[in-house]
Amino acid sequence: MTQNLETDVLVIGAGNAAFAAAHAAREEGAQVLMLECAPPDEAGGNTRFTAGAMRFAYTGVEDLVALMPDLTEDEIARTDFGSYSEESFFDDMGRVTEYRCDPDLVEQLVRRSRDTMMWMRSHGIRFAPLWGRQAFEVDGRFKFWGGLAVEVWGGGPGLVEGWTAAAGRAGIRVIYEARAQGLLRDDSGVTGAVARIDGETVRIAAKAVVLACGGFQANAEWRARYLGPGWDLAKVRGTRFNTGEGIRMALEAGASPSGNWSGCHAVGWERNAPEFGDLAVGDAFQKHSYPFGIMVNANGERFVDEGADFRNYTYAKYGRVILAQPGQFAWQIFDAKVLHLLRDEYRIREVTKVSASTLEELVEKLDGVDPERALAHIRKFNDAVMEDVPFNPNVKDGRGTVGLSVPKSNWANRLDQPPFEAYAITCGITFTFGGVRIDTEAAVQDRDGKPIPGLFSAGEMVGGLFYFNYPGGTGLMAGAVFGRIAGISAGRFAQSG
Ligand SMILES: Cc1cc2nc3c(=O)[nH]c(=O)nc-3n(C[C@H](O)[C@H](O)[C@H](O)COP(=O)(O)OP(=O)(O)OC[C@H]3O[C@@H](n4cnc5c(N)ncnc54)[C@H](O)[C@@H]3O)c2cc1C
Repeated sequence: MTQNLETDVLVIGAGNAAFAAAHAAREEGAQVLMLECAPPDEAGGNTRFTAGAMRFAYTGVEDLVALMPDLTEDEIARTDFGSYSEESFFDDMGRVTEYRCDPDLVEQLVRRSRDTMMWMRSHGIRFAPLWGRQAFEVDGRFKFWGGLAVEVWGGGPGLVEGWTAAAGRAGIRVIYEARAQGLLRDDSGVTGAVARIDGETVRIAAKAVVLACGGFQANAEWRARYLGPGWDLAKVRGTRFNTGEGIRMALEAGASPSGNWSGCHAVGWERNAPEFGDLAVGDAFQKHSYPFGIMVNANGERFVDEGADFRNYTYAKYGRVILAQPGQFAWQIFDAKVLHLLRDEYRIREVTKVSASTLEELVEKLDGVDPERALAHIRKFNDAVMEDVPFNPNVKDGRGTVGLSVPKSNWANRLDQPPFEAYAITCGITFTFGGVRIDTEAAVQDRDGKPIPGLFSAGEMVGGLFYFNYPGGTGLMAGAVFGRIAGISAGRFAQSG
């Protein structure tokens, strides 16, 4: 050891959960130090890769105006924002996790969601409606769907910038390229951490530590070990720095593992994307407009109900389904009728895309796909579409298929209007669901079910919230809610000592 540092609260990581914790601890009067293993130009974890969509309970447009006072009269008049009740948020968490989620943690998440958004605003984070992604214009009016109406101004990069600037104002110090390696622990609890900073091993004494260092999705070995065979082949959507080190450090200090260790959030992602996320592209490698088309595998066959629900409730589990296809890839196919509905991410340069003026020509261009079987399969799909039910992208329109072994439940359209477009995708992993066990005060629990004194955690590395699937926009919200709680708890713990 060549150096020593000291602080009240040590926060490990510098993503959304970590910053929320740091600010909350500071508000409790604690001196706060943050360690981030990435250099500044890559810092901010997965948070920086997001579009910044955040799910929270709101009773109506007045709650949104309080959060976004810049909304104009005209915007309000042209939009049906609907509402998203706490009950709906509870229902969504229960339904998509098959009722496995921890009810006590979900209670905190849901009930503190709106208040935490307002708290973020008080720290200079700004928000905007998610026009385009979560609302389509029908008859001159936008209608929001899927419980998700708001994004951070400037997306993930805006959120990291906002939090970092606020940290500067609050006197919170962030050390970059500082990799935490282990926790200091004695019989009284956790007393700090050891980190590698500038090539030196540094011992940091702290009255409380908050771990907010992400999941293990960027660690191919842990993916294969815990998620199962084949997961080493998935592409990582976000930061290369979330390799499970926070989870390892907590487990070594006696923490109890919790949650869906074999589960993760994974989506359809550009087939030729790099191994890890690229900040210049952000989340645009994702391809989330599949509810309006079909997906076929190497055998030329559909393999999943693309229209089972709004994409917010299916996209996070379909990456796993795509990974399970032969060759770990699929093609999404659309015709001219729906091209205007495709999200912006379909119009970037870094796409594997083919187009054609006939289906016969299109199937020949689908790299790796059996063209004859694909053509036969598309024709069978076309014949199964319930054309008497009107198509409406803003609601679950019930326009499905009849008689197919893999049905499509909503938004089914014949593929018959050229030009046809197809996009190649594979599985992109977002974050892992398993992690450490916390209580409702974000205190890390040991294997006897008791809090480890001085150790708190939040964000992706916490288990118990998500199983199998995930409602879009909940990762940032959970990170903010539990980060804030962890910061309050750590700040109070530090003051009490
Ligand atoms: C492409 C993409 C799009 C997404 N879109 C959305 C969205 O729109 N809405 C939403 O809610 N969620 C979204 N998510 C999920 C969301 O990013 C995460 O749920 C959330 O950002 C996690 O926050 P966090 O603070 O827990 O982790 P992170 O933001 O990943 O922060 C963890 C930090 O810990 C650091 N770290 C790791 N190990 C160490 C160590 N040993 N020492 C020091 N530092 C360490 C990392 O460098 C990183 O900065 C998206 C994710 C991706 C990848």
